[in-house]
Amino acid sequence: MSFISTRGKCGSSNFRNAIFQGLAPDGGLYIEETVSDLKDVYSRFTKDTSFVDIAADMTHALLKEEISKDDAKAICSSAFPFNPELNPIDEQISILELYHGPSCAFKDYGASFLAQAMEYFLGERDSRAIILTATSGDTGSAVAQAFHNVKNIDVVILYPKGRVSPLQEKQLTTLGGNVHALEVEGSFDDCQRMVKEAFMDTMLQKELTLTSANSINLGRLLPQSFYYVWARAQSAENPGDLLEGNKVPRVFCVPSGNFGNLTAGILSWKWGMHVDGFIAATNINDVVPEYLSSGIFTPRPSRHTCSNAMDVGNPSNFERLEYLFRNFPGGMGSMIHGDVITDEETTAAIAHVFHQKNQYLDPHTAVGYLASKRYLASRDQRAQIITLATAHPGKFGEIVEAATRTSPPLPVRLEAVLKKDKISTVINNSLGSLSAFLMEHFA
Ligand SMILES: *Cc1c(COP(=O)(O)O)cnc(C)c1O
Repeated sequence: MSFISTRGKCGSSNFRNAIFQGLAPDGGLYIEETVSDLKDVYSRFTKDTSFVDIAADMTHALLKEEISKDDAKAICSSAFPFNPELNPIDEQISILELYHGPSCAFKDYGASFLAQAMEYFLGERDSRAIILTATSGDTGSAVAQAFHNVKNIDVVILYPKGRVSPLQEKQLTTLGGNVHALEVEGSFDDCQRMVKEAFMDTMLQKELTLTSANSINLGRLLPQSFYYVWARAQSAENPGDLLEGNKVPRVFCVPSGNFGNLTAGILSWKWGMHVDGFIAATNINDVVPEYLSSGIFTPRPSRHTCSNAMDVGNPSNFERLEYLFRNFPGGMGSMIHGDVITDEETTAAIAHVFHQKNQYLDPHTAVGYLASKRYLASRDQRAQIITLATAHPGKFGEIVEAATRTSPPLPVRLEAVLKKDKISTVINNSLGSLSAFLMEHFA
């Protein structure tokens, strides 16, 4: 399989180059040159197939020129010591819990697979790389955990001093080893600017192999398709069931920000899995639902909400979605239904589910849950909906507590992190101080 840019202004690339490059040279995002057909592989999956087996079979089927069957199994076994869980919340909605990984959010799946794939390819060449990334708090921890102790890779994470929550800071600064936390005297925008400048700096480029692991990376996108297939297989009694529709429409609901997660779901469907539709659930940062109803895409500055991992005003994966639907009869709107949930509705949904079902939802998952409810009420009463739970409720404890007046339990692995000692290096907000750190440690 080879990959090309959504902007079509550069040649094709293999998977290995695509994941180390991140962005395609023309500024576009990598996407398959021709859509794979995985029907043969899908037809073997049933509810008894394990998540790792599904992941490994799909990895090999998609990347067989670069990753053998045995290596695919090894990569996926190391990447996924955690599993998704699917639990019904009522007759028609099931919650796909994607928060059982190390950082308690779904981004663990993409980051962990990318880390293992990079280790695999670097081992082949016996070279080292540095992952350089800026975080405003939440997304950095999935990357830090995923790359911790990965051979031939160092991780350097920049975060704004004093502007991330105590729990987020501990998640970034207590791993040690090959994970280096830089506390920048400045804002998140400063951190991002410094990372961008470092990637453009010819001296650093000459001395070091710098690479990024941000969410547009193809190596984070592909593995996010595995749990859609696994979840869909949970209702497959017999081989072949994944390819067939039946009287009950099956729909996935995806709480979305940058739209990587939804794009991965669309891929799993394009490769041959039967699905009747997707719901794109957003908070008031609603450029995609707006596009789905008006046909006009208007990126704008993001607005702050209580589901802040979805506060994205210009979702980068829209470019991939547009590409995937460019020749599809009926367009994107025939497969994806958009809905927009306000903060008031989100907290009301958290409270409602807690009081009715004695169950906690994090604010992002609550957006998905409410969008699913509304879909059943207004679009299709018969549907069976799988709603993705993108984060553990304990990760957003303050919001959940304000909504329910009780505090959700913190997962054991986050509790443990709070007790560890912080190790970080304070630097000022200039490229000079970042370069000095990198040269001193890695050149
Ligand atoms: C990143 C994130 C999202 C949004 O996912 P996208 O792939 O960017 O659409 C939703 N919920 C949580 C908890 C996240 O961390």
